[in-house]
Amino acid sequence: MEGAGISGGWNEGGILLPYTRTTKTSRFRANYRLRDNRGMAKCLYCDSEGDTHEHVIPAAFGEFKDAPRLLTPVCAPCNGQRLGLLDEQVARCGPEGFMREFYGVTGRDHHAKVNPFARGSAGGKRLEFSTFDREVGVEVNLEIRNGVVTQMCELIFVEAETGKVHHIPLKESMTADELRTEFERRAVAKPFETRLSCHPHEQVWIEKLLQEYSPGMTFSEPKLMSHVIEKPTVKFQVGERYYRGIAKIGFHYFLTQFPAYSGHEPIFSRIRSFIYEDTKEPIRRVNEIMNMRQHPLLQEMIQPGVRPNGWKAHFLAAEVAGGVCLAHVHMFLTEDSPGQIYTINLGTDPANHEPKGYAHGYRYYPDGKHGQFLGEAVALTAIRLAGAVPPAKPVIETH
Ligand SMILES: [Zn+2]
Repeated sequence: MEGAGISGGWNEGGILLPYTRTTKTSRFRANYRLRDNRGMAKCLYCDSEGDTHEHVIPAAFGEFKDAPRLLTPVCAPCNGQRLGLLDEQVARCGPEGFMREFYGVTGRDHHAKVNPFARGSAGGKRLEFSTFDREVGVEVNLEIRNGVVTQMCELIFVEAETGKVHHIPLKESMTADELRTEFERRAVAKPFETRLSCHPHEQVWIEKLLQEYSPGMTFSEPKLMSHVIEKPTVKFQVGERYYRGIAKIGFHYFLTQFPAYSGHEPIFSRIRSFIYEDTKEPIRRVNEIMNMRQHPLLQEMIQPGVRPNGWKAHFLAAEVAGGVCLAHVHMFLTEDSPGQIYTINLGTDPANHEPKGYAHGYRYYPDGKHGQFLGEAVALTAIRLAGAVPPAKPVIETH
């Protein structure tokens, strides 16, 4: 999968050779013809008739003006169930989910409001965001509420003999029975010390909950959290669905840029089954399909240490080189985070000789929502880099 040398620039113009850029008009016509010929529009993933047009970037990350739309439809059951689970893991459990909370990107999330710092989603684990709190004297969990980093409201049990720490996140809707179940699940060894980490305004409902849970329970002195959060760490535990969700973004973007393919072609059967089929297999399959690119997609980022100047964007690129169909997915390149770039090998089409590449930047508006849109998608020039590209890394390190 090496040698993928695509690079894009924010500003259009420049030399595009040897890639040739098709104009918008001719691409539109190609799309149009394709749909007419296809007759009934079959779902990209199953035999049903497709009826919804997928957002390439999951709606949880917001809608982008002028974003390319996938022409091959997806049926509502595939979109809402199987593929929806992939989007959920990407949007809540991985680094992209964390950045989404960090920037308060709530998108068009129709699901029940889930706190990804308190519980996992779609098989992925919760975002473990924590720091050592000097006031409380232990490692405490953090969360982001409305874009603000804050300590999570929780009960903390410290085992006297081993020093082992257990956390139970508290929420206002919790019952004493639920709290009891959570406590029993943790099997805290006696004797232990109990500490409470909460915001002052939460004390009223917490005291009520704790009185119900254990009448007479007292805290020598309620420890309120520190105001300064030092060196927080965040831990991600994602499953195969996360990677399949990333691969789906790449595959769908590729199809928007190479509309001569509907995605049903046999060369894509491997990527389609990877995205679609939920298996209990370990995530070994992931390394066969995708890797981590160690070279920036955006030309401006090639200089070491360069970071975006205040802007926040996602980048998607698609290319065919030597018959190999590739997609590159780079979510959340910002001044706070370099993000990570995945390259997805979609399949090989020996008949496709002409090297071509396309890219889009999905930039968030600096001043918030414009109508329904959180940002806009801009077509970027895709140029072929001269020279070697640093080797890609496996997504999952195996020893
Ligand atoms: Zn379907």
